Amino acid sequence: METKQFKAESKRILDMMIHSIYTHHEIFLRELISNASDAIDKIYYKALTDESLTFDKDNYYIKVTADKEKRILKICDTGIGMSREELENNLGTIAKSGSLAFKNENELKDGYDIIGQFGVGFYSAFMVADTVTVISKALGSDEAYKWESKGADGYTISHCEKDAVGTDIILTIKENTEDENYDEFLEEYRLKDIIKKYSDFIRYPIKMDVTSS
Ligand code: ADP
Ligand code: MG
Repeated sequence: METKQFKAESKRILDMMIHSIYTHHEIFLRELISNASDAIDKIYYKALTDESLTFDKDNYYIKVTADKEKRILKICDTGIGMSREELENNLGTIAKSGSLAFKNENELKDGYDIIGQFGVGFYSAFMVADTVTVISKALGSDEAYKWESKGADGYTISHCEKDAVGTDIILTIKENTEDENYDEFLEEYRLKDIIKKYSDFIRYPIKMDVTSS
């Protein structure tokens, strides 16, 4: 008898993830910060074996910026970035983890810091954002690319400008509804609380900047 492979409705899976996997919306920030930290760690590990790379800890950080008027929350990192192909593979395939692949390729044993493994955390951003935009420039590349999605309808990738290597995750935060408050994810005290609660162990500095215009 032939063994058949399961098929998956990716739209439905994404929908399910956004609406039912996570109990608390706030964990989206933990997921995005852990991805940023992983991206910096990858440069760190590469620098251990590649003499042309130096790792000066002061140059690596995560920055969270909120603009209340524009309802924009950004999580920027100076990590390894993603090429066009990596944007396509890692953010276009649910449950595909570039970080797990990196761990395997580099034979990093358990106990190393790279956190990612399941390839789903990123999509938690859609719990709080209508639009998720990712602008990224990969280490060693001169080109930058923009990945953008409003959720279940898919994503686009286009060429764009970005000076430094790394990734900017730009969330357009949802409007409040009768049952849900999203404004809180643009408030400095709330963001600080969430970071303290879930990201205290992150080895790189997390900077913050909140404005109301
Ligand atoms: P996981 O972290 O478990 O691998 P995610 O869904 O959080 O899964 O992310 C999927 C993949 O997208 C990551 O494994 C990584 O390859 C890539 N990625 C996500 N965010 C970033 C980032 N800020 N910088 C570089 N790569 C990233
Ligand atoms: Mg992750």
